Amino acid sequence: MIDTVVHFGGFFQGETVGLNAHPRSDSSAVQTLTIDDSAWDNLKDKHNLEPGMNLLIRFARGEVEEAAVLGHSDRELLRAAAVERNISPNPALRAIAYHCKQCGMWIAQQPVEIAKGAYSCLVCGSPLA
Ligand SMILES: [Zn+2]
Repeated sequence: MIDTVVHFGGFFQGETVGLNAHPRSDSSAVQTLTIDDSAWDNLKDKHNLEPGMNLLIRFARGEVEEAAVLGHSDRELLRAAAVERNISPNPALRAIAYHCKQCGMWIAQQPVEIAKGAYSCLVCGSPLA
């Protein structure tokens, strides 16, 4: 989860964004991440990254190899930061995010299909109504 957005830009590594962030499981383990623009999957505008936003981060050799916007409690802030993709399991409906009451977040990633037509939250595993 993002605590603070530190900087945009970068001199030697190309375009980056610097963040202070912590794992969901340990709010005291804040670390500074430098994320290259090319590492992002679904980022719409890095200037719309906000404190409280949750990211999916994959590390390789201590560096951020892949990053994606996961969710935020505020749907409009999430829509401003993440590329809208249809994640609805029902092709008749268009959804770019689902809301998990357990997480208290809108989440811009596919939920997990636990049985035919039944889904659970990608983050916490709670069944979705
Ligand atoms: Zn959840």
